[in-house]
Order: sequence, then C-alpha cells, then structure tokens
Amino acid sequence: MPRNPFQFLEVSRADPEKRPVGERIRDFNEIYGQFDADTAAAQAGRCLDCGNPYCEWKCPVHNYIPNWLKLIEEGRLLEAAELSHRTNTLPEICGRICPQDRLCEGDCTLNDGLGAVSIGSIEKYITDEALKLGWRPDLSDVEPTGRRVAVVGAGPAGLGCADVLVRNGIEAVVYDRYPRIGGLLSYGIPNFKLDKAVVENRRTLCESMGIRFVLDTEVGRDIGMDDLLEEYDAVFMGLGAYRAVRGQLPNEDADGVVPALAYLVGRANEQLDTDAVGGMSVDVSGERVVVLGGGDTAMDCNRTAIRQGARAVTCVYRRDAENMPGSRREVKNARDEGVIFRYNRQPVGIEIDGERVVGVRVLETRLGEPDERGRRRPETVAGTDEIIPADRVIVAFGFNAEPAAWYEDQAIAHYEDGRTLVATSGEYPFQTSNARIFAGGDMVRGADLVVTAVFEGRQAAESIVRFLRAGADAGADARAVAGR
Ligand code: FAD
Ligand code: SF4
Repeated sequence: MPRNPFQFLEVSRADPEKRPVGERIRDFNEIYGQFDADTAAAQAGRCLDCGNPYCEWKCPVHNYIPNWLKLIEEGRLLEAAELSHRTNTLPEICGRICPQDRLCEGDCTLNDGLGAVSIGSIEKYITDEALKLGWRPDLSDVEPTGRRVAVVGAGPAGLGCADVLVRNGIEAVVYDRYPRIGGLLSYGIPNFKLDKAVVENRRTLCESMGIRFVLDTEVGRDIGMDDLLEEYDAVFMGLGAYRAVRGQLPNEDADGVVPALAYLVGRANEQLDTDAVGGMSVDVSGERVVVLGGGDTAMDCNRTAIRQGARAVTCVYRRDAENMPGSRREVKNARDEGVIFRYNRQPVGIEIDGERVVGVRVLETRLGEPDERGRRRPETVAGTDEIIPADRVIVAFGFNAEPAAWYEDQAIAHYEDGRTLVATSGEYPFQTSNARIFAGGDMVRGADLVVTAVFEGRQAAESIVRFLRAGADAGADARAVAGR
C-alpha cells in the first residue's frame, strides 16, 4: 500500500497502555505494556520523514530513527532490529528509560502541538519482539584480529564498549564486582521502570555475540589492573559514579537516614537474591518517608517507598517543578502514585529524638540568578522554617566519581575538583593519561544517563580499535625496517 503522508493528522499519538495506579503500586512490575504490530506500524507511520531529522541529532547515540520507523511501518521487524543495533547497544533499555521528552521526542517536528512520534516505545518494541522471534545480531562478516581488551564495569558504558569491540573482531572480556551485569540497570533503577529479565536477556544476547563476563570480581581487590594490562592489549574502564553527595545537614547520619543508592541496591538484592556491595535492606512500610532531591534517583526512591507500603511519601526539592532535573514522565508517575511534592523547600537539618530521625527542617526558597549550568539558584527566605515530620529520610542529592587508590600506580589522572572525574585527555577520544587505558560513562562525564554512557563506551571502543591498529601498523613498519 502506498505511504499515507498525512498519517500524522489521521492517527493521534498513542503510548502503550499504562497499568492503573491502584494495581501497579501493589507490585514492582513494569507499568507500561507493549504495542501490538498494527499499532506499532500505525504509530511509526506518523513520522514525517522530515529530511533533517532533529530527533536523530538530539538522540545521544544518533539512532537512525526515521529509517527504523519506516521499516516498522512496513512490518520489517528483523531488519529494524539489525539497524537499531548499529547505533545503540541497549535499544530496548533506552526505549524504556530514556527521558524521551528531553531527547528524541522533545525534538520531533510533530511535538509542536500534534504529539511527537512515540519513538521510545517503538524502539523498545523492535528489540523485545525481535528477540522473541530468536533474532540475534549478525556478526558473520567479523574477522577476528587476535586482539584482546579487558572491560572493567558491566554497566551501560562497559556494555557499549564491548559491543563495538566484538563487532571489530576484538575479544572483549568484561569484569564486574557485582554478581549481575548492568551496573545501575540492575542495582539502581527499580524493576517497575526496567524489568531485570530484560537485563538478563541482554546478557544472553551479549554472550551470543562472544562477549565474556567475569562477575563478582572487583578490579583492585580480586584482580589487579597490572594483571589486566599484562594479559590484554588495552583496558576500558566504565566504573560509574558511586560517591553520594552529602547535604552537610546537621544529624545527617542519624538512625533512620538512608543514602538513596543503599536503599535501592538493598531492594535490588532482595529481588535478585544477590548480595551486591553497598546495599541496605530497608523496609519503610507504615512509615512517613521524606525523600530529599528532585532527580531520577529521588523519583525511584519515592516510588519504591510507595510500593513498600509507606504511610506517606513526601519529596522535598529546593527548586520548582519546572526546574526539576529528572524525567517529567517519571515525576508525573510519582505524583499519580501518591507522592506529595514540596517544591521550593531547602532542607537545612535533620530533626532527631535521641538517636532517631523525627523530621526534616526546611526553609522556603525563591529562585535567583542562573548558575553556571543555566539553572536558577535557589535562595532561602529567612523566617520560613518548617519541620516536615518523618520516620525515615532518604537522601538523593546525586553522585560523584570515586578515584580508586590504584589510579596513581597506573598514572591515571583525575580532576581534583569535587566531582573527581577521570580525565580523558589522551591523543584518542576517551583515552586516559595512561595510553593503554580508556574510560567513559558516569566516571568521565559525571552522573548522567544510560544512553550517554552507552555512547561514550561505544566511542571509546572506536578509539581502542584505532589505537590498536596504529600500534600494529607501527609494529609492522618496524619489522619491515628491520627486515623481518
Ligand atoms: P554504572 O551503571 O554505574 O556501571 C558501572 C559498573 O562498574 C557497575 O556495575 C560497578 O559494579 C562496576 N564497577 C565499579 N568499580 C569496579 C571495580 N573496581 N571492579 C569491577 N567492577 C567495578 N538514566 C537514564 O537514562 N534513565 C533513568 O531512568 C535513570 N534512572 C536512574 C536511577 C537511579 C537510581 C540512578 C542511580 C541512576 C539512574 N540513571 C538513569 C542514570 C544511569 O543509570 C547511569 O547514568 C548509567 O548507568 C551510567 O552507566 P555507567 O556504565 O557509566 O556506570
Ligand atoms: Fe530516543 Fe533514547 Fe532511543 Fe535515542 S536512545 S531514540 S534518545 S529513546
């Protein structure tokens, strides 16, 4: 059938069905359903194919969005899956948890009143459905190079790197201190946003591509970076950013105050029946919970607390709703699920009775001049003290990178400011000050997004390929000069 160029007028934007609030807050299962093939095709057919695809530019991995939308419109699912994997290592995961409203869909031409194409849901549909049909990436034309690279960290950055390495004929062995792959995909982001079975399916897929995982193995403790440099041609580090930002609040270490990631890792351990480091088993059922912060981590804590049966969950944020850093979709989901938002409130202290938390002292704020990142600074208003009662306080102020003691032995430089990010100022993009070590993801750009970590891992792999090739060429030249 010929393409209908006016489909965007005749078919409204649709999203996969969302489970009703009363049902979904009683379990930890994903809240969105899946398109069927006809709906996916009809939604994909809304794409204008506008010539200069702003969505593609805005997508951090520059997915070939209009091209795979067209394939889905034509029912060519397996070709769409192959194409979608050319640019993205984790398309079914990004389709679920990218903040599309700020990325691809935010820049869709139709977003100007007609409703953006539901790009994320179609991206998820493509891989989920192709995998059900037994699809696997086609690596039949890959020529082994005999080169080997160790990837440290099985999070999005590490997986992105390993994917591109094996597609270039380089053996990739991925080490992680956790018992499951995925990094924060498994041990941060809750199941109701990303089912852990999806991450396990990805592991199977990676292994089918020849990627090998060595889990429960911490580099620097169970195996040295020296050993890796000896055994492999190069190393990629995607270690993430795990040092929690503290609020410097009086009584921040009181009984009942919990760091956000410890809470979420604890919950993931219970669910996965693992014992990943850094988790705390905390049950907030029946408690009044106050979550401090306004990003994705805070939203995940809010919604986890709701599902654990908290009596009330209040989210305290120092700016207004407009200036929240997290995904708007997740803020809306949190609100629908019963989270109470207290905007323009700056926490200034934890109130205790004996050793135990009983509340959070806050001051009202108003927004002042923009900071260096363009976000307006909150300024506290004197005389507006208020205590929000709490049995439990969860602190979600963000994360910084944590340089390991062994960086110095390997001459890996990092910035000395508060974020202590690893410097990738080598000759090749994402090369550290040690020429054989590359790095990317949260430990290099600061805590950010899955899709940006995937992008950096992939880019680093491209650099490693060029670096190893240059080394091989130099070796061949030297052998030619020596007459060997
Ligand atoms: P990580 O995912 O942190 O992976 C690093 C890996 O390195 C870990 O598996 C760790 O165990 C391993 N590691 C560290 N040190 C060692 C060592 N010495 N030896 C061996 N292994 C080691 N992003 C989104 O796009 N959408 C969201 O909805 C979203 N929600 C989030 C919710 C929460 C609660 C959090 C904390 C983050 C969220 N993010 C979200 C951000 C996203 O998860 C991260 O930006 C992304 O995971 C970073 O990938 P990475 O590979 O750099 O690091
Ligand atoms: Fe959109 Fe993220 Fe997919 Fe890119 S990776 S197309 S930004 S959902």
